[in-house]
Amino acid sequence: MEKRQFQAESKRLLEMMINSIYTQKEVFLRELISNASDAIDKIYYKALTDDSLSFNQDDYYIKIEADKENRILKITDTGIGMTKEELENNLGIIAKSGSLAFKTENEIKDGHDIIGQFGVGFYAAFMVADVVTVISKALGSDEAFKWQSEGADGYTIEPTEKNDVGTEIILQIKENTEDDSYEEYLEEYRLKSIIKKYSDFIRYPIKMDVTKSRKKEDSEDEYESYVEEETINSMVPIWRKNKNELSDEDYENFYNEKHYGFDKPLKHIHISVDGTIRYNAILYIPESTPFDYYSKEYEKGLELYSNGVLIMNKSADLLPDYFSFVKGLVDSEDLSLNISREMLQHDRQLKLIAKNINKKIKSELQSLLKNEREKYEAFYKSFGRQLKFGVYNDFGANKETLQDLLMFYSSKEKKLVTLDEYISRMPEEQKFIYYASGESIERIEKLPQAELVADKGYEILYFTEDIDEFAIKMLMSYKEKEFKSVSSGDLGIEESEKDRETKDEENAELFEEMKTILLGKVKDVRVSKRLKSHPVCLTADGEVTIEMEKILNAMPDNQNVKADKILEINPNHEVFESLKHALASDKEKLSLYTNLLYNQALLIEGLPIQDPVEFTNDICKVMV
Ligand code: ADP
Repeated sequence: MEKRQFQAESKRLLEMMINSIYTQKEVFLRELISNASDAIDKIYYKALTDDSLSFNQDDYYIKIEADKENRILKITDTGIGMTKEELENNLGIIAKSGSLAFKTENEIKDGHDIIGQFGVGFYAAFMVADVVTVISKALGSDEAFKWQSEGADGYTIEPTEKNDVGTEIILQIKENTEDDSYEEYLEEYRLKSIIKKYSDFIRYPIKMDVTKSRKKEDSEDEYESYVEEETINSMVPIWRKNKNELSDEDYENFYNEKHYGFDKPLKHIHISVDGTIRYNAILYIPESTPFDYYSKEYEKGLELYSNGVLIMNKSADLLPDYFSFVKGLVDSEDLSLNISREMLQHDRQLKLIAKNINKKIKSELQSLLKNEREKYEAFYKSFGRQLKFGVYNDFGANKETLQDLLMFYSSKEKKLVTLDEYISRMPEEQKFIYYASGESIERIEKLPQAELVADKGYEILYFTEDIDEFAIKMLMSYKEKEFKSVSSGDLGIEESEKDRETKDEENAELFEEMKTILLGKVKDVRVSKRLKSHPVCLTADGEVTIEMEKILNAMPDNQNVKADKILEINPNHEVFESLKHALASDKEKLSLYTNLLYNQALLIEGLPIQDPVEFTNDICKVMV
């Protein structure tokens, strides 16, 4: 029979599975049971919403059968099944296509990381099996098909016989090796414990034939063994259980079982509301950023259940964008099973639930910040950027909600601080919340512009992410204190003001001359009131700061936004004397010095120099 090829990326993933040194191979069963349960969810939902289908509750189950002698493990479900095309498309091509592209060759070689980060679903079967056979009959089809693969070199599909709708996965378990015992996946006790550990909350019975023993009839001390089918899982969905009955591990296992993420969740939130609206929810705040989180591919949303029946995989309406990292599910008896997506959007109950959830997430984050600072910082590292986008987006509509969750690196504390912490430490005479923007903490630390503010002993918040300044511009102030860039015109620090004005007047001719030399490059040349030891710096007048200019111009729809740049000169620096001297005696020299200083200021700001060759030539001129 003709062998079909796996799609290239699937093949790579499969090879990784086959050669996996991943220690937790047992998760293969979790993956297969989870697929089976999803497939039953689908048929269950169909049966409830389509009168022409009739099923009994007993018709939904998953069965696990081990045949030790032949090294066969079989997982049967009564789910919706797969057509020939679905077998081909679902098993021959990985859904998470593209995920591997993000990884370097080395990371891919270390398959552990891939399994850890993406999970691999069905392909996990190849960690423990040499041959994987899938026999499936789809709902509404009268043909069944058999898909079979021995690994990366391809698979076959052929028609076969199967009475009932559903899927059978048949694993030919690998021979033991020196390092790995695969036999254990055929042992009753081991299978039972894996099911209990990962799949206890699956809503459908996971059945297994279990060997038991009983006293022989008419005998005092003789026992005989017999086989009886048993349901291994408790079947109560975790969100219906009492919080007190659940351990952190239970929540973690559920998180993994559900594929919400492959990290450990940082925090779980279990909500049970029994008031005007009734719902249960389990929400998770992940620890690490999903690989596609800050890309267009990422889809936010919570799973939505109507009285235990899954009606939507990702209900986006339940989460605001700024909390799009939250994973989990909501189950409510008040939602109609037959409700369409469009109607759901306008559903009053759902809106109430969403509002409720939003509040709860915020308060949980606040309590994390207050009580478990380290954890909050880990969270903020992963998702702080999203919160800042939240402040900025929708014209600042959510800034009140989010401002207390923000953190920035502090010049004084040398770590992340909240705005509230900043305010509480402000000396009485300090008017503004100061910030400085730059590429990195190291670079900002050396910014000449920050000298005066730092000298005054004022704390400065360091903005290293491109969104920071935009978000803060939207926020404008916090607890009535305005934000002020250390590069902005008026720093609100009195003392040097008068001094500067007289110096500006005294040197009007020099500055006019320099302005002419830098025509079109800067808006003005002035005496600096913020420089202490450095000779020059660039600042900006008006709304667009230099940092914003950089960011806006780096965007794909570059609109060529320019900041109004001001060249500030330190009148107490030795070069100032040289400038004055040149003005009096040698105009060419003044031009040379002015251009040099301007280019230096550009470099310090991390802006490109228009003509680097000319700049280096200028330096040589000064040297000889
Ligand atoms: P995922 O479950 O994350 O989508 P998998 O690789 O585990 O990825 O499965 C790929 C797809 O194959 C599933 O989305 C589903 O459509 C289909 N599938 C897998 N197992 C079954 C099953 N037992 N019954 C029906 N469909 C299945």
